Amino acid sequence: MNVPLLDLNAQYTDEIIKEIETEIAKVVSRHNYILGSKVKEFEEQMQEYLNVKYCIGCASGTDALILALQASGIGKGDEVITTPFTFFATASSIYRLGAKPVFADIREDTFNIDPGEIEKFINDKTRAIVPVHLFGQAAEMDTICRIAREHNLAIVEDNAQGIGAKYKEKFAGTFGDVGTLSFFPSKNLGAMGDAGMCMTNSESLAGKIKQLRVHGENPKYIHKWVGLNSRLDTIQAAVLSVKLKHLSKWSEQRRQNAEFYDEAMKDIEQVKTPFVSKNAVSIYNQYTLVVEKRDELMDYLKGQGVGCNVYYPLPLHLQDCFAEFGGKIGDCPVSEKLAGKVLSLPIYSELTRDMQLYVVEKVKEFYK
Ligand SMILES: *Cc1c(COP(=O)(O)O)cnc(C)c1O
Repeated sequence: MNVPLLDLNAQYTDEIIKEIETEIAKVVSRHNYILGSKVKEFEEQMQEYLNVKYCIGCASGTDALILALQASGIGKGDEVITTPFTFFATASSIYRLGAKPVFADIREDTFNIDPGEIEKFINDKTRAIVPVHLFGQAAEMDTICRIAREHNLAIVEDNAQGIGAKYKEKFAGTFGDVGTLSFFPSKNLGAMGDAGMCMTNSESLAGKIKQLRVHGENPKYIHKWVGLNSRLDTIQAAVLSVKLKHLSKWSEQRRQNAEFYDEAMKDIEQVKTPFVSKNAVSIYNQYTLVVEKRDELMDYLKGQGVGCNVYYPLPLHLQDCFAEFGGKIGDCPVSEKLAGKVLSLPIYSELTRDMQLYVVEKVKEFYK
């Protein structure tokens, strides 16, 4: 059997493809490709979905982070505290603005930033915290918000992996000053290309982000700031608005798949299945195990036709491109340890029980 890590072919059913083609044809008939009416429509649908006042579409999840941070006033000489156990863009966006990413270690159970580590790094240059809702589970937002309030710091939530995830009944990405999303094709709501979004409840931040995504201009050809050229493509907005209608169902299917794996693997001594806090509802962008003999298991599974991958093999404080900040082994011991032990398995909505049984059987076979 072959079980890919992700199968977009299974997600794009004939019915969804047909609906997407109809919506794309409407955009083509209007030729309003840049910030066309469909962008506004999709932004409004997202506002309703996430119960947030403003959603602003942009070109990618990376740009969404840059826009959110710039709108929050982050720039040269500032320090921003974030997690080293995340996709690169979380820290590169901070770096792009001339600020310094400062890495606080994660919790061993949830893989998310450990609020208890954050305060150690706060000094008079610290301006913001960027928590990441990794693999679809929200970070501990009540504690993080309290720390931010006490020290007068902005919060930008990197919610690229957490669309629709909840923390204490509230949507991830709507706790801080700004939240960001990515619609990269492998995210739970994926476009047919690159796309991203910022969400906020602040009218002034929303206005600034809208301006920053069009070179910081307002009115036309008058620039108060140097922004980006980063619009949400109208055709992508058309694709996303069709797919959004299926998102809740897809997330529920991922949760059911996770439940099945949890139960089926609970007795494998060398495997720890994902921990989800009682305060969180995960959308399982990844289903990530902590395992013994990780590299050997990964090779074995791949050889047996089971797609799997390591997110992430090298924590960001140890990346060459950030060497100037002097990060070294031992700075974030939990992240460093987990980077050698995590393995993500197929969890996408359309997985069948037979496929999941096969994956579990192969994991068991390896440890026998
Ligand atoms: C995917 C991702 C991003 C970047 O999104 P792009 O749309 O690929 O630019 C940022 N942060 C995290 C945590 C991600 O997973």
